[in-house]
Amino acid sequence: MAPGHMIPLVDMARQFSRHGVKVTIITTPLNATKFSKTIQKDRELGSDISIRTIEFPCKEAGLPEGCENLASTTSSEMSLKFVIALYLFQQPVEQFMEEDHPDCLIAGTFFSWAVDVAAKLGIPRLAFNGTGLLPMCAYHSFMEHKPHLKVESETEEFVIPGLPDTIKMSRSKISEHWKDEKETPMTPIVKDFMRAEATSYGAIVNSFYEMEPNYVRHFREVVGRKVWHVGPVSLCNKDNEDKSQRGQDSSLSEQKCLDWLNTKEPKSVIYICFGSMSIFSSDQLFEIATALEASDQQFIWVVRQNTTNEEWMPEGFEEKLNVNGRGLIIKGWAPQVLILDHEATGGFVTHCGWNSLLEGVSAGVPMVTWPLSAEQFFNEKLLVEILKIGVPVGVQAWSQRTDSRVPINRENIQRAVTKVMVGQEAEEMRGRADALGNSAKMAVEKGGSSDNSLISLLEELRMRKSSSN
Ligand code: UDP
Repeated sequence: MAPGHMIPLVDMARQFSRHGVKVTIITTPLNATKFSKTIQKDRELGSDISIRTIEFPCKEAGLPEGCENLASTTSSEMSLKFVIALYLFQQPVEQFMEEDHPDCLIAGTFFSWAVDVAAKLGIPRLAFNGTGLLPMCAYHSFMEHKPHLKVESETEEFVIPGLPDTIKMSRSKISEHWKDEKETPMTPIVKDFMRAEATSYGAIVNSFYEMEPNYVRHFREVVGRKVWHVGPVSLCNKDNEDKSQRGQDSSLSEQKCLDWLNTKEPKSVIYICFGSMSIFSSDQLFEIATALEASDQQFIWVVRQNTTNEEWMPEGFEEKLNVNGRGLIIKGWAPQVLILDHEATGGFVTHCGWNSLLEGVSAGVPMVTWPLSAEQFFNEKLLVEILKIGVPVGVQAWSQRTDSRVPINRENIQRAVTKVMVGQEAEEMRGRADALGNSAKMAVEKGGSSDNSLISLLEELRMRKSSSN
């Protein structure tokens, strides 16, 4: 029940149903409103897909009424309460499953109890952890070898042991929830998630073989778990309506967005968005605005603020944009896939959330990498060092809290933006990004690697079922 998990799971559910499988999405009433129109449309087109809602136990969890998504929490205490509340879904989900008799349960990492529910019903649980195979293999290496405990300082680099590539990391770039061995309130919960992932039947991943082949093999052979790669799942959104309603209705209408983009030359616009949850300080927003003004690039910038105070904007910034048409600011939710897929978009400044990374790859655009927290610093390595389609803006430290981040200055932002948009290096990156984008599209087509992976999963589930009958 966080956008970065729910959005790809809904896409995945739709992919399953297009393969003739009956699918039920279990969620809460407010979350259901975010995708019910899309599901209804699929039903009208003949898919056997439906939504089952369970009330969110806000009161029991000590959360305000209507707080049904991690994106609605406003402090770490609230987020902790939210994650604990997810354990309360075990009983109603179990009851539903006993009535409905599904053949498989796919559940996000946060629902660790799903593994026990599935075991009780004698069906497999597939774990979906929202990220890709490189970060999953990196996590495994950290847990096995603990390289971060063998360095002297926060900034000393070390190689992540045992991975197919030489990837260097430092303590400053890894999650505060597991870099020290000391217990936090989240520690037992994270351990529970990991136990459940490791004991699940297998993992289902939003990725495709051609993008990280060595990590698909590593996950199977070294981590030793079954995995099915079925992405990029965002590519199941074929028409503009689906693309612009994905996640939630966008703050700027599909038409206004397209009208603006349609006036621009191919590959001439850079899109800037930091995912569904990140909020930036006023200082940081000011630096971005100033860099964009100085960069000479056309842009769409998504600004998510928890206040209506706009003191961060340089004097006359928005007015100038209205006159010269050089930039568009979207306050709130943007139709990200619609924008990325438009031919006018030529670059993406991203926080390297896994979905954004894959959506950028699918659209064939080079990226400026600006990781903030979660596994985003591993994702940056994939884009910059392995796929060679990313330019780092230069973030040095992992941080979940807006107020503890050191702002990236305008010179660094401008330098990175220019590097992905203009010149020989940009052209070369664009060529590689374009080729990878084509592989992504082929992967989900009939006979592609992801389509085959999904079919092989369905065959395995059918064989399991018939051998147990
Ligand atoms: N997204 C969107 N519009 C926005 C912000 C985000 O459509 O204004 C979508 C984006 O396309 C992606 C998801 O929200 O599918 C964010 O997931 P990601 O893993 O990139 O980052 P997170 O939000 O989990 O940090």
